[in-house]
Amino acid sequence: MHFEKPFTQQEPIPEEAISRAVDVMRSGRLHRYNIVAGETAEVSLLEKEFAAWQGAKYCLATASGGQALQIALRAAGVKPGNKVLANAYTLAPVPGSIFAVGAKPIFVEVDANWHTDIENLRSKAETSKAQFLMLSHMRGHIADMYEINRICKEFNITMIEDCAHTMGARWKGERSGNFGEIACFSTQTYKHMNSGEGGLLTTNNAQFAARAIITSGSYMIYGTHGAAPAEKAFRQVKLKSPNCSARMDNLRAAILRPQLTQLEANVKRWNDLYKTLESELTEATNITICARKHYEDYVGSSIQFHITTNENDSIPEFIQRCLTRGVELKWFGSEEPVGFTSRYDSWRYLEDNVDLPQTTNVLSTTCDMRVPLTFNKDDCRKIAQIIKEEVTRE
Ligand SMILES: *Cc1c(COP(=O)(O)O)cnc(C)c1O
Repeated sequence: MHFEKPFTQQEPIPEEAISRAVDVMRSGRLHRYNIVAGETAEVSLLEKEFAAWQGAKYCLATASGGQALQIALRAAGVKPGNKVLANAYTLAPVPGSIFAVGAKPIFVEVDANWHTDIENLRSKAETSKAQFLMLSHMRGHIADMYEINRICKEFNITMIEDCAHTMGARWKGERSGNFGEIACFSTQTYKHMNSGEGGLLTTNNAQFAARAIITSGSYMIYGTHGAAPAEKAFRQVKLKSPNCSARMDNLRAAILRPQLTQLEANVKRWNDLYKTLESELTEATNITICARKHYEDYVGSSIQFHITTNENDSIPEFIQRCLTRGVELKWFGSEEPVGFTSRYDSWRYLEDNVDLPQTTNVLSTTCDMRVPLTFNKDDCRKIAQIIKEEVTRE
């Protein structure tokens, strides 16, 4: 048996989004500040709708998720030379954004469940004296947020959440992104909403919101924003924040607005696929899928598992055999980054050579697979079958 479907194929953009995008193009007013009297820009409408959906006071749409992260760091007051704690299992835009603002990441170990290691976070917070944490809910795994909030409070740390993989997820009933001071989301093609590129930032802090908006490149037209704080918040920051030009345009916002209304339904579809894969794969003796807590309402847009191969086999060989049969797995154990993977020790532009033995060990057995909504449950069963056959080979 060979699996035929591509792992990188997203669903088409909804028809309603296409026609709205066409309307924007017909109008010629693609820039968010290019509005006629009485008009509200698509970007402002998206900000308003996303803020309401997320349950946050303020929202800013940006050119990418990575730009949202960078803007969040600046808005939170990170200055060159400052230290920023960050879990080591994350994607390259996280260290990239910290580097871009001249700050220095202090990487924290992850545990076998791909959660930020609470004890390591506490000890690094204590020794580094970092005042910021960029917590990445990598591949949708949400650590104990109460513990993390407790540590942040104890050490006076401002937390930014990277919710690129948790848009729509909840932890103990609260939406991911509402635990820290600022949350960042991505609407890049492979995330939970698709505008090609794009990002969203939410916060309840008026001053952070005002700084973020000016930093995104609002000039002095911030008054047209959809989910912005009142003028008074801007007064103190508007001449003290750089314009880093990272706005979203109306075309992308038009594509995203109808997708937001489908998001809850899509989360359910993702989880149905995830659960099918999970129940099939847990049968294999050399595969371990970490059990999620009953109060973690994750979004199963990807699946991770630990694998143990026997002594005549290796993980790269197993991955290659799966690939030959059409099943695309990623492995975080490789010395050199491949495709979208990368490990903390491959970000060699960072000055310090950090060694995180626990994270390296966890990632050395971690396999990762994308679950696009263009798959159905039958596809998931076929994929699981192939993986099970290949992992048990002598
Ligand atoms: C995708 C992603 C981002 C943001 O990426 P952009 O491509 O800049 O939108 C940030 N963090 C993680 C973990 C991601 O996967």
